Amino acid sequence: MTIDGQAAPTAATFDVLNPATSEVYAQAPECSKEQLDAAMESAAKAYRDWKSDESFRRDALRQAAGVLMNASAELAPILTSEQGKPIPEATIEFFAAGMWLQYYADLEVPREVIQDDDAAFVEVVRKPLGVVAAITPWNFPVVLASWKIAPALMAGNTMVLKPSPFTPLSTLKVGELLRDVLPPGVFNVVSGGDELGAWMSSHPVPRKISFTGSVATGKKVAASAAPDLKRVTLELGGNDPAILLDDIDPADVADKVYRQAFANNGQVCSAIKRVYVPEAKYDEVVDALASHAKAAKVGNGMDADTQLGPINNRPQFERVSELVADAIKGGARAVTGGKAMDSPGYFFEPTILADITDGTRIVDEEQFGPALPVIPYRDLDDAVERANATHFGLSGSVWSGDPERAAEVAERLECGTAWVNTHLALAPHQPFGGAKWSGIGVENGPWGLYGFTELQVLHRSKQ
Ligand code: NAD
Repeated sequence: MTIDGQAAPTAATFDVLNPATSEVYAQAPECSKEQLDAAMESAAKAYRDWKSDESFRRDALRQAAGVLMNASAELAPILTSEQGKPIPEATIEFFAAGMWLQYYADLEVPREVIQDDDAAFVEVVRKPLGVVAAITPWNFPVVLASWKIAPALMAGNTMVLKPSPFTPLSTLKVGELLRDVLPPGVFNVVSGGDELGAWMSSHPVPRKISFTGSVATGKKVAASAAPDLKRVTLELGGNDPAILLDDIDPADVADKVYRQAFANNGQVCSAIKRVYVPEAKYDEVVDALASHAKAAKVGNGMDADTQLGPINNRPQFERVSELVADAIKGGARAVTGGKAMDSPGYFFEPTILADITDGTRIVDEEQFGPALPVIPYRDLDDAVERANATHFGLSGSVWSGDPERAAEVAERLECGTAWVNTHLALAPHQPFGGAKWSGIGVENGPWGLYGFTELQVLHRSKQ
């Protein structure tokens, strides 16, 4: 771990499994309560100086961006071994993290003058909060951490970060690499099980919890932050609908929908998780999606020709298996796939489920894996209503040859991001967050940085 700019060995360790083999790949450090206290204290101490020199922060973040990008080839195999994703995608994660650091290092947030007259000169100033506790999931450990590190540190906060126990190693490495770039205590990385996350969200030092993970855990985090009135940003699960309109080209749209449903083997919070298709185009779309799924090369992320890796961990593998089995039992048709692969790792056949509708668990819940339900519809208003009939509200997309018509439908989706003729188009300058149970607050863009600040009104009387 990294505490106060130094290596922090632990008395205990826990197993990290390689999902491609389901065998133990490494031991990760198990943070004790005392070590968490030390990390929090170090972050609180570092905050005093870090918050006061903006140009120093910009330079440090630029350097950090370069370090992560340069180390991507060395670090990618670690990420692949603990997460499962193919090497090129693991490499891109470190580049993307560098891009996020670079974006925030360059972001100018002007002081806002809201009154300048004979009576007063009034400015709105954004001030950092203090220590941020950051907690991340296992699907994109590095890039999702950078969505927190970059804006939080740029705004002048310091941080204690905890990755998921399924994928701690790549994030621990990031901490190690940045020891020489950031002053001691500015960025601490600890690892451990879920209880470490609970200690962090109820710890007296942090003023903000920035959390990415499931809805169930997000609610626990919100509850444990409440007694201390800690600020929270919650980036939670999604059950993103894609609605195809009746004028689509089935082959073209199926190609794009497939890629944005099966990216990272379906383990993306805002991946397409259910597809609504007009009855007239249903068979063509189902067949085209199935042909992509059938052709996908599933394997160990270390192999050069692998397109889809394993599911990251056993509980998630069991969950996907259960949801697919439940759908088939209820009458859905697995056009392709439908079961786990005969292999020691957590491999599941890329699955397209047809003849299925709302009310089936895999349509109503977040599957977070390589199985996609395709739902026929007759009436567009009814499809929009069904797409919105959920506690989730992360994102959604509408597909049509007429982008204006699609945009009108997209605006009716109750979600944080509504795409037209694309999905998963995420960028550092574009705010990302969920409506309803998919989250509170946003990440990215200036809005993401504002989430790590508090407003101060600086009012100078002229009278
Ligand atoms: P999870 O909620 O199980 O775990 C997320 C993190 O929370 C882990 O680090 C875990 O150790 C920690 N944690 C567990 N219990 C805790 C507690 N009581 N207090 C504090 N921390 C605790 O989620 P996961 O299975 O790792 O990730 C998958 C979920 O994350 C999916 O639902 C996915 O949609 C969601 N997700 C959301 C976004 C987004 O930006 N909206 C991005 C990626 C993933």
